[in-house]
Amino acid sequence: MNGSVHMDQELLKEVKKLRARVARLEQEREQALVHGQQELESLRDTEPLENASRVDERHVALEAVFDTLEDALVVYAPSGDIIRANRAFYRLLKIEQPLEYIQQPMEARSQLVHMCDERGEPMPEESWPVMRVLRGEVLGSGDATDITFVTMDGCQVQADISGAPIRDRAGNITGAVLAFHDVTLRKQQEQRHVEETRRMDEFLSIASHELRTPMTTINGNIQLAKRRVKSLSLPDGGPAGYEDKLTLIQELLSRAERQVRIQNRLVGDLLDVSRIQASRLELNVIDCDLAEITREAVEDQRFAVPNRTILLHDVPADVALPIQADADRISQVVTNFLTNALKYSAADRVVEVQIELQGKFARVSVRDGGPGLSAENQVHLWERFYRVPGIEIQSGSGMGLGLGLYICHTIIALHHGQVGVDSKVGEGSTFWFSLPLA
Ligand code: ADP
Repeated sequence: MNGSVHMDQELLKEVKKLRARVARLEQEREQALVHGQQELESLRDTEPLENASRVDERHVALEAVFDTLEDALVVYAPSGDIIRANRAFYRLLKIEQPLEYIQQPMEARSQLVHMCDERGEPMPEESWPVMRVLRGEVLGSGDATDITFVTMDGCQVQADISGAPIRDRAGNITGAVLAFHDVTLRKQQEQRHVEETRRMDEFLSIASHELRTPMTTINGNIQLAKRRVKSLSLPDGGPAGYEDKLTLIQELLSRAERQVRIQNRLVGDLLDVSRIQASRLELNVIDCDLAEITREAVEDQRFAVPNRTILLHDVPADVALPIQADADRISQVVTNFLTNALKYSAADRVVEVQIELQGKFARVSVRDGGPGLSAENQVHLWERFYRVPGIEIQSGSGMGLGLGLYICHTIIALHHGQVGVDSKVGEGSTFWFSLPLA
């Protein structure tokens, strides 16, 4: 019995202890809950505040970036109303009252600043860039749209516009953003350049025609004078010194004739260039043979400059090089390569001409022992008016306008052929062209 009483007391003690522990734990739990609640409360209070200030900072930074951009940037609502525009936008369109302007609906805004397309026609609403973008179109920088704006003070401003729709997570369009790049100055310069080129071409055309007419008369008179002088020759040689005087006059007339020929060639080049510019260089295409054309051109040059050696490496006699071409124009190309080779090399240098059959092509090349050309100069050789700086005429009484090679290139291109030059500074040059065989 005693033993069991003792047991009971022990048990009671244990139970008491346990109760106290449970109470303590309860209290701790309570405290933890309150603390947690407080934490939560405090979080609820402070987080939005912190977030807001962070967002605010970002907003200010973005706004600054937005306003320092060179290009005009505008954010639109789905209705086309302006949500935000940067300073460059107001500057571009010369808007003095930004707030007033952007508060207006789209139609009212379009009354203040007019939009025109590339031809200067007013643009219908559905073509306005903002409308296109709000319909989902992306106007990339590659295919940027050229728009002319007539600003409130009547000025014309041109801008390249690119832009994209703004979409929510579900992909619905919730607005648009457009960038306007001011190209007014560039367009004005382009316009001026086109106008100058047009006037220059017109001048070339008129000048070359006007120059040619008197030259024909001068040449006719020289021929007439030469014949008259010849007829003055007497069977017995006439008085002393008479024949010498006649010979001198003949020589002077021949010199004048050569000068007229050079001048005629230059004027002819000018005329050709003005025809090329106006796309009016016409070809009289016939069946002909490139080897024959080249042989004749070489013969003509041998006759014109008998003091020079022109070697011809011809194709074998049984090989024909049939082409469909304007024989006079092809002859002009061979002659141009030849006269260049002669005039840009010293009088004692040999000029070599080669005629070749190369697969489906006939090829002519003209090699000289002149100064040679750097790779950089070779790139520009075929351009209109280009003359290599530092390359002087070495022999003959020629002069140049930098048109011959440009004309050659055009003539060969019109015949679906190719031109080229192989050269190194100090090692002479080989100018060549090839034409498809008929
Ligand atoms: P140009 O009437 O001035 O000779 P071209 O168009 O025929 O005009 O030639 C353009 C320029 O290329 C020449 O002014 C000259 O500087 C250079 N050139 C042409 N042919 C040769 C050549 N065979 N050797 C060196 N330079 C040449």
